[in-house]
Amino acid sequence: MLRCRDITLLASDYLDGRLRWQKRLSLLVHLLMCPHCRRFVTQFKAVVRVIRGFEPPPTDSDTLNRFESAINKTIKHDSTK
Ligand SMILES: [Zn+2]
Repeated sequence: MLRCRDITLLASDYLDGRLRWQKRLSLLVHLLMCPHCRRFVTQFKAVVRVIRGFEPPPTDSDTLNRFESAINKTIKHDSTK
């Protein structure tokens, strides 16, 4: 029988479809009985969906330099207040 702590460790593999059927079945049985873990897995799934929807950060050096410059300007501006 899986414990709640096990569910937090297995949630990522479960959502990615990487659990063997026995472990997946154990997880699903636990989710049927435990509203806390059901809520956790539902929220974790939503977070994963949002994160996967984000664009990867810029990687070319011009974009990174402009980004760094803008951040530094903001930091200087905020430190003078
Ligand atoms: Zn639980």
